[in-house]
Formats: sequence, structure tokens, C-alpha cells
Amino acid sequence: MSSNIVTLAVDGDVAVVTVDNPPVNTITAGVREGLFAAVADIRARSGLRAVVLVCEGSTFFSGADIGEFSGPPKEAEYRDLFRQIEQLSMPVVAGMHGVVLGGGLEISLACHYRVAAPGTRFGLPEVTLGIIPGAGGTQRMPRLIGVEKTLDFIIAARPVDVATGVAMGFIDAEVPGHVRAAAIAYARQLLQDGAGPRRTSDRGVDPATATPAIIEKLTAQAKRQYPNRQAALTAIKAVSAAATLPFEAGLLYETELANGAKVTDESKALVHVFFAERDTRKVPGLPADAKARIIASGGVVGAGTMGGGIAICFANAGLPVTVLDTTQETLDRGLAVIGKTYDSMVKRGRLTEDEKVKRLALIRGTLSYADLAAADLVIEAVFESMELKGKIFRALDEVAKPGAVLATNTSTLDIAEIAATTRRPEDVVGLHFFSPANVMPLLEVVRTDSTAPAVIKTALNLAKSLRKTPVLARVCYGFIGNRMMEGYAREAERMTLEGATPRQVDDALEAWGMAMGILAVFDMAGIDVGVNVHRANADRYPPDPSYYQADFALHAAGRLGQKNGKGYYKYLPGDRARHDDPEAIQILADTAKRLGLPQRRHSADEIVERCVYPLINEGIRILEEGIALRASDVDVVWCAGYGFPRYRGGPLFYADAIGLKTVYDGMLKYRDQFGPMHWDPAPLLTRLVTEGRTLSDWDQARS
Ligand code: NAD
Repeated sequence: MSSNIVTLAVDGDVAVVTVDNPPVNTITAGVREGLFAAVADIRARSGLRAVVLVCEGSTFFSGADIGEFSGPPKEAEYRDLFRQIEQLSMPVVAGMHGVVLGGGLEISLACHYRVAAPGTRFGLPEVTLGIIPGAGGTQRMPRLIGVEKTLDFIIAARPVDVATGVAMGFIDAEVPGHVRAAAIAYARQLLQDGAGPRRTSDRGVDPATATPAIIEKLTAQAKRQYPNRQAALTAIKAVSAAATLPFEAGLLYETELANGAKVTDESKALVHVFFAERDTRKVPGLPADAKARIIASGGVVGAGTMGGGIAICFANAGLPVTVLDTTQETLDRGLAVIGKTYDSMVKRGRLTEDEKVKRLALIRGTLSYADLAAADLVIEAVFESMELKGKIFRALDEVAKPGAVLATNTSTLDIAEIAATTRRPEDVVGLHFFSPANVMPLLEVVRTDSTAPAVIKTALNLAKSLRKTPVLARVCYGFIGNRMMEGYAREAERMTLEGATPRQVDDALEAWGMAMGILAVFDMAGIDVGVNVHRANADRYPPDPSYYQADFALHAAGRLGQKNGKGYYKYLPGDRARHDDPEAIQILADTAKRLGLPQRRHSADEIVERCVYPLINEGIRILEEGIALRASDVDVVWCAGYGFPRYRGGPLFYADAIGLKTVYDGMLKYRDQFGPMHWDPAPLLTRLVTEGRTLSDWDQARS
């Protein structure tokens, strides 16, 4: 038997089944078909005494085919295939390498023995997609390691290494050398030792690992780790059933629960974000002959908060980077912060001392522009001033080599205007990192009308090297993310002037799923930072006397946020916990009085609607104006950069999920209450509602 994807070779009396389905050996329909055929072939042959299952390429099976989730259920097919593998009459050894996740790990559990190359990692991350292991994992894993450990593993959803797999009891051995040869040798040793098949399904589950106290503890853990979500709780049901149900009945119960999980809003949203993140690199209309430039070294102008973080990103990716600042003192300060960031990574066990030294050696400080002459890409991250940035881009234009990409990290300035200060506007692009730049995954890539296609491709590739999720935007004030933030934050602030306390506002947003309430975010970022931006851009804002007045009032009272221990909340030294502060609440009440705003109570629903509807509405305007390429890109920006709950799929997926008509009606409801200044539905929202279409339809029509 032989197919392109699955081949069967015979090595003496050992059948070696090899799967080669690049890039990561996903268990697609073709793989399953090939494996069915391989099993039949093995059964039909005589003289075989053992089977080895291995994969070619970078990894053993990396998982099931997520693209199949939306189609007809495949569980019965998986069940049948894995049963046939497990029922083979001779020992079956899985020889693993790479990153073995989900269905990839489950197939190994249906094999009789499991060995792995050094460096292999294993995980059951299904709950991060809102589903549960559905290919026997919830029934076989507890037969190997018990219910408690299985659920710890599934709920944590974090891959473990070989040593941990061996210690937990689902991996038999780490094997040195090439995994195919090692697995064959392992199989031969089994034969020599007289070992036969060892079927996981024949084992029982230790009831001591599934006591009510354990299940209760795990349930509490799942609710804590996944608030508002079901998948981990469903996994608890499935895995704990292994302790009471016979194996086959357990598998059927798993299928029932897995299919139920796949159609939840939670799962649809998480799968949407999963694919949305992969789609952001697809840019329609870029000519195929525009080739991305190679970025082998970087430069950063400005060694402050962002410049330092960006330099760390480069060094973490193994790219040498030169950081320039104006004075030795500011440069040294910046380099010292970089050093401290690495120290704390070492302290937290994220990095070895050796690795730290290597990465630091890639970062070089300078006061001279001449040292940026060789850089393939230079990112400017100095104070937010057009005059200053213009000066810097003129200097870069003088020294940078031809073909170097010149990028700016500006948050608010017109990048086309910055580009126009150079003789090479086609090489200029916005690379908007988020703070802390070395941690936050989002990178807005902002193109002007002049940015060359090759430069856009280069920026998207660079994002990959820096392990960032890029989203392409066009120039507008605030780009995608911060522009949408405007209405969201405006309403949160405004409600504190209508009598809601900062805690009520933040609690409602957090209970709904935002990673952090926006007022706590302001305290963390610095209230002065927001006030400065608003002052510098006062001419852009609508004539609303209450506009961002909470921020201004707190700032005027010397409340800068966490940095001086008081903002919307009070903070105690050495502690980031928020404490309600009657003084802040009084300042907000006094401001409301001055503005003549009546005081009242707000329900959690109102707080969420008033923050999230404007967010959605602005996202739709951004789409309509072509600032973002697609609705799913807007979702990625908010999930990757602003703590929007992935299990709600991003603001625009969420809008489709609750119905665009609901959002539209909500906008009108608040327009009646507060007037049209902030509450006019976006024209595209109105149009889609009238036509009965969704944002997903809108995306599809454009893809
Ligand atoms: P920062 O004040 O921490 O750092 C600015 C650095 O630039 C300082 O080290 C300063 O000495 C240096 N500098 C000033 N003039 C210079 C010159 N002529 N040549 C070289 N260096 C010079 O500022 P930041 O927070 O890192 O912000 C930098 C840029 O990034 C701004 O455009 C800002 O809007 C943008 N940004 C900031 C954030 C954030 O959260 N802080 C997020 C995204 C983007």
C-alpha cells in the first residue's frame, strides 16, 4: 500500500507507517484515508510482528484539521480509525517529534507505546478553541494518567516537554537519535522482551483520581481560568465520565459533548480569531513581483519606553540592532532599562543567563546617525512631535542606505506627512507597536498612499520574525485600534461623571470579558499621557463639554495614575491593587456638578453597551473607509492589542453574533438619550441592517 501522504515500508518484521503531510502533518481527510489503508495492508500481510507510526518533516501530527470543524462531524471516523489502530494484534509504537497537539497526541494514545525525540512537546489545547478533545483523548488519557492529571493538563492548555510527559505517565521514553530509527529499535526491544499489544482502552481509570473533591477543585479552577466560558467545564464532564462509563460508551459521550462544544458561540468565536490571525498577512492587490526585502539588522531612534521594547524584540529574534538617543545620559538610561527587562526575564525563569548575554550583545547604543547607515530597517520612536519626527526622518534620509525601510512608531501623527520629509516616501511605513513592545503581540503596519508594496511585504515578514501579529492599516488619526478606543473610553469616562464609580465601570467591563477595565488601564498608562494627547489634538474633537473631562479633572488634581499612587483609584506603595478612593469620586462628582450632569445608577448592561456599541460602530466606519482590509482584521487588533475577549471573537464578530440590528437599535436608543453627536450609526451599519447582511458577508464579498 502506498499513497502520497501515507507510506508503509517493511523493515524486517516491523511495519513502518510514515505520514508526510506538510507543513505540519495535520490529520486531514487524506491522512485518515491513508492510515485506514495502511492498517488494512498491515492486517493483510503475514510475517509482521510490530508497527511503528512516524511522521516526516518538522513534526509528528500537529493536530486535527481545524478547517473541518465547520463541516459535518468527523468523530465517528476518528473513533473507527483509532480503534482499528489500537486493535492491531501486534505492538504499535508511536515515534514522535516536534509539537504534538490535540488529535496528534490523541492518535498516539491509541498506539500501544509512545516514544519521543528530545525537544518534543505535547499538548491538549482544545479548550483554547472552545472545544474538547474529541478523538478519544478524554477517555484514553485518564486511563493512562488518571482523571485529575488529565484535566489539569487540558485546563492548563499548555504544552509539556518529554520529561514531563514521562513523569506524568503518558510517554514511555525519550529516545535519542533519529526518531524513526529509534522507534524501530524500541519496537524490536519490545519484541525481544516478549511485550505484546498494550491497549489503552483495556485499562481502567483509578477512581481515586476522580473524587467529588477533585472534580470540585478542577471546576473552580476552570471557572477561574475561563470566566464566561464552557469548554473547560465540558471537558471536566467528559473526562470524569471515563471513571464511570465503559470505554465505548465513554467515547460516544465524548462525541456528544465534543459536537455540542463545536457549535457554541465560544468555539465559533475562538476559531474565528484563530483563522483571522492567519489571514492578516493576506493583502489583496500587492503585485507578485514586489519582493519583500531582507531585514538582517535594525536601528531604533529613541531609547525610551517604546524604543527599548522594540530593540528587545529585535534581539529576541536574533537580529542585531543599534539604538540611538540624543545624549549619553538618555541613551544609558534606555540601555539600563533594557538590561533590567532581561534581568527580570532571567529571574522569572524565562531566559537563561547565557541567552541574556547573547541577546544583550546584539543591542548596541550610539549617539551618531552614521551608525545607522548599515541598518536594513530603522524605526523611529521619539517624542510625539511632528517637528521632531520630521527632523529625524530628514537625518535618516541622509544616512540610511538605499532600500532601507524607514519606519515610525507614531500613535497619532500623519505618517504621509512624515514620509514627505524624505526623498524616499515609498520606503516609509508605520510600525505601531503596543506597550510593552517586547510583550504585546499586536503590530499595526500602517501604509501611506506612497508606501511601496515591497515595503508592506517586508513589514509583514518582519512581524513574523519578531513573533508579532501584524494588521495592515491605512493612515487616519489613531489608525485602527486607538481610533476605536475613542468612543469606548469616552463613554466609560462619561459614566463616571453620571454617578457610576470607576469600580462599577471597570467591574462591568471585566465581568463581560475585557482583560482590564479601561479606567484601570488609564491609571496604568498614566492619566497625563491621555491628557497630553487630548490637548495636542483638541481641534479634532467634537464640541462636547463633558468630553474626557473626568481625565482632565483628575489630572488637574495631580492624579496621574499608578505612577503617583492615585488616579481613578488609589494605590498603595509596592502594590498595584486598586482601592476605591473617595477623593477621586468627589472630584468626579464636583466635575459633574460643574457640567450640570445629573447623577444616577447604571446597570452593568448599560455600561457594557455604551462602551462596546461605539467601539463596534467606529470599527464599521474604519471598514467602510478602507482603513482596515477586513472586519476580521479589526477583530484581531482588539483581541491582540486591547484585551478584548477572544471568546467573543473581536468587536465585529461579536456584532454579527448579537445581530447588527441589535447594535443599530442600541445606537438609536442612546442617540435618543444623549443626542446625535456620538450616537449616529455608521452608514455601513445602517446599510447592512437594511439589507439583512452581516459583516462576515461583507468580508466574504471582498475576499
Ligand atoms: P519616551 O518618552 O519613553 O521615549 C522617547 C525617547 O526619545 C527618549 O529616550 C528621548 O531621549 C528620545 N529622543 C528624543 N528626541 C530625540 C532625538 N532627537 N533623537 C533621538 N532620540 C530622541 O516615549 P515613548 O513612550 O517610547 O514613545 C515614543 C513614540 O512611540 C511616540 O511617537 C509615541 O506616540 C509612540 N508610542 C508610544 C506608546 C506608549 O504606550 N508609550 C505606544 C505606541 C506608540
